[in-house]
Amino acid sequence: MFPIHRPRRLRQTTQLRRMVRENVVTTSDLIYPLFAVPGEGIAQEVKSMPGVYQLSVDKIVAEAKEVYDLGIPSIILFGIPDNKDVEATGAWHDCGIVQKAATAVKEAVPELVIIADTCLCEYTSHGHCGYLEVGDLSGRVLNDPTLELLQKTAVSQAKAGADIIAPSGMMDGFVQAIRTGLDEAGFQDTPILSYAAKYASAYYGPFRDAAESAPQFGDRRTYQMDPANSQEAIKEIELDIAEGADMLMIKPALAYMDIIWRVKEATNLPVAAYNVSGEYSMVKAAALNGWIDEQKVVMETLTGFKRSGADLILTYHAKDAARWLQE
Ligand SMILES: [Zn+2]
Repeated sequence: MFPIHRPRRLRQTTQLRRMVRENVVTTSDLIYPLFAVPGEGIAQEVKSMPGVYQLSVDKIVAEAKEVYDLGIPSIILFGIPDNKDVEATGAWHDCGIVQKAATAVKEAVPELVIIADTCLCEYTSHGHCGYLEVGDLSGRVLNDPTLELLQKTAVSQAKAGADIIAPSGMMDGFVQAIRTGLDEAGFQDTPILSYAAKYASAYYGPFRDAAESAPQFGDRRTYQMDPANSQEAIKEIELDIAEGADMLMIKPALAYMDIIWRVKEATNLPVAAYNVSGEYSMVKAAALNGWIDEQKVVMETLTGFKRSGADLILTYHAKDAARWLQE
């Protein structure tokens, strides 16, 4: 064949490369995570995540305006409550921190799409994603009783102004339980973005600092997926689709691009990738040391997610990426 075929012909100039580019990241693809804490005037940087802050509701509102002005269409809210208990009261109470933040953001920036993370681990005293048997020290969350709490949480989040409900606890049947709850409460039009394939990953380490949600004992391997499995991801997404999920999420993203690809191939639903805290912190740490070019590495990573099939990317780099995309 050589030299008839010379792929380099199409790489000769910036304009040529633009013309044949297969995947591009746009600001519309980005979702920015925010952590709400009680109080006022609080912006507490998360030690292991430079540039990421726990914010009181007033600061969340300011941040939401900035995010919207940058052209990012959506935020996802996590909450750190004043008090934690075994019932995860802070998750489903109408005066919960995520509910307060959602209401305030909706009032200030009505067009910004608010996604509410729907889980209980930030709100339980033991840090697990649901009810435990009394005396359980392994973290084997009781599935079915937990569904009721998730249902209550989702409904109160929707009431507070959340546009999309995103259940993340990997309980069996959680999409159906939440769909039923939302429908009965009159929120038929509120979509569910299911954390459909969420792995028990060490990449969540820094997030647990940010959300103060590290389990006090045991681990999450009885409900989150084994990192060694991919067939099982397809099983999980098929169940969530059958239960009424509108969009699917894969978490984490970087070490799971094959899963993003397989899920995208297996479904017509929009697929989101969560570029998680540990992925962010590694890039930040290397960049702060001057070891990598942060902008180039971030944009290459985000482009990689698009290439692997992600329609949406949840990322702590969203604001930076939006700025870089404007240049
Ligand atoms: Zn959880």
